[in-house]
Amino acid sequence: MTAIAHNIARVKQHLPPHVTLIAVSKTRSVEAIMAAYSAGQRDFGESRPQELLQKAAALPQDIRWHFIGHLQRNKVKMVAPCAHLIHSIDSAALMREVSTACEKLGVTARCLLQVHVAQEETKFGFLPHELLDYLRSGEAGALRSVQICGLMGMASNTGDMEQVRGEFRLIKQLHGQSKALVSQPDLFTQISMGMSGDYAVAVEEGATLVRIGTMIFGDVGAFS
Ligand SMILES: *Cc1c(COP(=O)(O)O)cnc(C)c1O
Repeated sequence: MTAIAHNIARVKQHLPPHVTLIAVSKTRSVEAIMAAYSAGQRDFGESRPQELLQKAAALPQDIRWHFIGHLQRNKVKMVAPCAHLIHSIDSAALMREVSTACEKLGVTARCLLQVHVAQEETKFGFLPHELLDYLRSGEAGALRSVQICGLMGMASNTGDMEQVRGEFRLIKQLHGQSKALVSQPDLFTQISMGMSGDYAVAVEEGATLVRIGTMIFGDVGAFS
């Protein structure tokens, strides 16, 4: 068994069956991804459009690629056709852009709305009140080529696990409030939260998708 396969097995031991593990493969080599693939892993997370495209072309077709990085509007056309799920819709303008691009391509993009609950100002996403206002406006529901599948968020980068827990709890609570506002609540089922350092807490607080890089692939990446 490779170290990567071993790490995946170890992480999965702690995940209930309803939680999907996304192996965050940004900066990782095609060989490292293939080691995870050979261990049965099919969901991978990437955060740069160009890197996603290169890897999607080089790797097996049945991989589900999750786009988890900040998405610039001029890169939407690249990302939409190969992403199984876009986790990082952080503005109304980006959502419109995704819908317009997908309509031209004849595809529907599955998306999560990114919510900003952490203390760091560097993180992207709708603030909680912006998210609810946006959903109340009905604008998102009127877009034809996107399907809103849930929320994504990141906790503050801190060792204070009670703070982290509170932020995850807020995302879960916002998910419940949002579900009552979206046009297709049955499809609004996903909560993407939790990374290597905090995924156990995220799962306890209701995550359905966890995004884990370092614990699977180690500290340094080599993709160039
Ligand atoms: C890199 C990244 C992760 C994975 O972080 P690790 O600490 O390596 O597990 C998760 N989510 C996002 C949005 C990332 O950019």
